[in-house]
Amino acid sequence: TPTPATGLLAGLDPDQRAAAGVEGGPLLIIAGPGTGKTRTLTHRLAHLVVERGVPPEQCLAITFTRRAAEEMTERMAALAPAHAPAMTITTFHALGVLVLREQHDRVGLSRSFGIADPDQQLAVALSVAADEKAAKELLATAHPAYKDALRAQDLVDFDDLITLPLALLEDDADLAASYRDRWRWVSVDEYQDVDEQQYRLLRQLAPSDGNLTAIGDPDQAIYRFRGADVGFFLRFREDFPAARTAHLTRNYRSSAPVVTGALQVVAPTTLVPGRELRPFGEHGDALIGVHHAASEQAEAVFVSRTVEQLLGGATFHAFDSGRVDSDGARDLGFSDFAVLYRTDRQSRAVVDALTASGMPFQKRSHDRLADRPGVERIVRELRFAAGETVLDRVRAVAGEDHTAYELLKPLAGDCGADFERFHSELALGVEVDTWDPRADRISLLTLHASKGLEFPVVFVVGCEDGLLPLRWPGADPVPDEVAEERRLLFVGMTRAQRHLFLSHSTGRPRSPFLNQLDGVFEQVGDARPARKKKETQFSLF
Ligand code: ATP
Ligand code: MG
Repeated sequence: TPTPATGLLAGLDPDQRAAAGVEGGPLLIIAGPGTGKTRTLTHRLAHLVVERGVPPEQCLAITFTRRAAEEMTERMAALAPAHAPAMTITTFHALGVLVLREQHDRVGLSRSFGIADPDQQLAVALSVAADEKAAKELLATAHPAYKDALRAQDLVDFDDLITLPLALLEDDADLAASYRDRWRWVSVDEYQDVDEQQYRLLRQLAPSDGNLTAIGDPDQAIYRFRGADVGFFLRFREDFPAARTAHLTRNYRSSAPVVTGALQVVAPTTLVPGRELRPFGEHGDALIGVHHAASEQAEAVFVSRTVEQLLGGATFHAFDSGRVDSDGARDLGFSDFAVLYRTDRQSRAVVDALTASGMPFQKRSHDRLADRPGVERIVRELRFAAGETVLDRVRAVAGEDHTAYELLKPLAGDCGADFERFHSELALGVEVDTWDPRADRISLLTLHASKGLEFPVVFVVGCEDGLLPLRWPGADPVPDEVAEERRLLFVGMTRAQRHLFLSHSTGRPRSPFLNQLDGVFEQVGDARPARKKKETQFSLF
């Protein structure tokens, strides 16, 4: 019987609704990009607490990045305002911190233990290596003496955030049972990218007949190099024999050429043979633009001119192909554009071209928040704070340093009532970036960082053999690695809603992955410099 389209399930299509409405037990949602997996998960959780009476304290939702956790928290606050605050929506690492704060005495830490940053890690590792008179500094982080030295300073490192809670739960069945009792509804987004430790942690938290919802797409597994193993996804039904499986087949995100082209690219090594994915959104029918530039610089200029063209309301008629496209791209703003690349180094030419054009952009950087001078100063002074909320204190100490204040504000706001938490979150923010999805700027992202996101216009630059797939000169291709690189391009392409441009420049051969494209692309030439028409748009900057 179809799940009725009422209440919190009303905004979902029949397949999504059926998945979101599953009563309980293990559930695997396996579906391609843009099919509404994340949306279905969010609605499912809201539906469970608001319409089915599941206590929100029993809900644990795990995402891979802080950004994704924040976004889900926001969406949940909109869908289920009264219940959202009681739910635990978190990353694996932040979950580890939560468990360790509660169980600190069992591992010889104080409740306010610190999380070592890479510099502290290195210092401890070096001191251990010196003591041991080893020259094997690089091995020191695996050395028990290194862990002892960390503990002596009341510190854990990033890996410990998963391995310590895991060891606790695996060694103490009663403790594991108490956590299972607390979070009876567990869900994980992007399940295709769990690694072995995370997988084991999940198995402790969710019994084989438990209410575990795992969501993902094996063809978007892109973290193998970091230890992720898509095999855990593929064997979900063996691990959880009672599992229901849901497939979503309508892609709401992208135009037909983008969906078809992306499927063509991933097809040779797809992990989901026979997958169904049909474009269902209203995103025009612009073909994928493939561009060949004379140099990396010229390629970046192509990007900036094309952005100007699209912003100016002119779509394709300026291109050599002479094609006229009228899909109403007139309402685009800077935040609707993303430039994706395989390696961070490639962003340089794009940054130069965009700087020269005067258009605002933001690069997703992996600077450590805690390393920014203003932030460092504020955090140092905060040690002496007491009796105020973290946010008030940060505001007072930041004074004139608006940038540092803006960076710390969300974190400080979240931590309200709690300096201890603020410090651990700050340390956890090793990968926190300053990229703001709401800023009216063009986004520059690595392909990895683009996971889960979407933009009306996407450029993938450097579609060249050696970059996609990435390979050291002279190195032989390793099939598993090439397959992962192919999936990475699949992820990048499927971020696009209306327009997708794949570019490459002379210097390296064109990416072999592009040879897969058939009937969905056109070769596009250089865009002309921006027309004067919409000058006012740029005078702001
Ligand atoms: P990815 O694999 O990239 O993470 P996803 O499957 O998680 O993708 P979402 O990000 O949840 O996909 O959804 C993609 C887009 O489609 C979003 O803009 C979402 O709002 C929209 N969408 C999803 N379901 C529907 C629907 N039933 N009706 C209209 N729009 C929808
Ligand atoms: Mg998603």
